Amino acid sequence: MRIAIIGAGMAGLSCADGLKAFGHDVILLDKARGAGGRMSTRRVETSLGEVSFDHGAQYFTARSPDFCKQVESWAARGIVRRWQLPAPDAWIGAPGMNAMVKAMAGEHDVRWNVHVNRIERHAGGWLLEADETRFGDIDTAILAIPAEQALPFLSLHNFSMAREALLARSQPCWTAMFTLSQPLIQGPDMIRDEDDIAWAARNNAKPGRGGPEGWVVQARPEWSARHIDRPADEIAMLLWVRLCAALKADLPGPIAASAHRWRYAMSGGLGLGSLWNAPMGLGVCGDWLLGPRIECAWVSGQDLARQIVEMPSG
Ligand SMILES: Cc1cc2nc3c(=O)[nH]c(=O)nc-3n(C[C@H](O)[C@H](O)[C@H](O)COP(=O)(O)OP(=O)(O)OC[C@H]3O[C@@H](n4cnc5c(N)ncnc54)[C@H](O)[C@@H]3O)c2cc1C
Repeated sequence: MRIAIIGAGMAGLSCADGLKAFGHDVILLDKARGAGGRMSTRRVETSLGEVSFDHGAQYFTARSPDFCKQVESWAARGIVRRWQLPAPDAWIGAPGMNAMVKAMAGEHDVRWNVHVNRIERHAGGWLLEADETRFGDIDTAILAIPAEQALPFLSLHNFSMAREALLARSQPCWTAMFTLSQPLIQGPDMIRDEDDIAWAARNNAKPGRGGPEGWVVQARPEWSARHIDRPADEIAMLLWVRLCAALKADLPGPIAASAHRWRYAMSGGLGLGSLWNAPMGLGVCGDWLLGPRIECAWVSGQDLARQIVEMPSG
């Protein structure tokens, strides 16, 4: 079976892993330049050199036996490490949060910079259209993208799947990244739920990071929604003021500041696992089908692969 997965984040790649294990021919298409999705690592040029930030997911936990097994195998390869500051059972990717997705992508045929904007069903299967390329002869099409981005595709092909996507609303998150000229001598390495800040962390203090003093500040969903259309440089300034207030310090300005808007940061989570329509050869996976966590994205991808293997299309 020739299978195309739109979206090479944790869910899409987990599904690809599950399908490849059963000998299926899988291709993944992703609009981004490189691996990560919402687990991306951002590199910023500063006068002190290049600084990396985990600017999406900050850490993850493993609860289900299958995901625990997967995490143990990542740990054995050195691509995840323990970070017990946020929670006793917390893990992070190493050297950045995108490490697992990067390693998974290396095992598959992933085409980056491919923004799929149309999927069409023909007698012989699916035709996928990106800006400059078309992918035909596809037996099975899988959407592994946030609910809001999956909705326009689903609404043209499957009403009941579209209805689920409509029910799963995500919350936004403005994330700011600051590089300081000098390390802060005092203060915490992490701040949680303070004023408009949902989360802030000294990125260089996470295990295996290092480099210049770098802070990631993530605003609360309500604050992010209220300021969703403001320019990124204004957001960076506003969140800098809030970080100084939370650290109770009058800091010299950062040597580099930027902000990233995640429109669909935290999914609502439907508790469904994944969606699969065998007669159409259309599947959907992603964190939004379970909950707003990395583990949920991985489990959703595995769940869909299992459904496809047990009940193939056609
Ligand atoms: C700010 C923030 C903080 C978070 N904190 C945590 C945390 O601390 N712990 C935790 O467990 N989880 C956290 N999460 C959630 C976690 O990152 C997600 O649950 C998980 O990464 C979702 O994976 P996914 O594969 O479902 O989706 P994504 O990672 O969003 O992957 C979807 C992929 O699809 C691609 N794509 C979208 N549309 C198209 C298209 N039309 N054509 C081609 N490609 C397309 C995108 O480029 C992307 O790579 C956080 C998320 C954010 C944004």
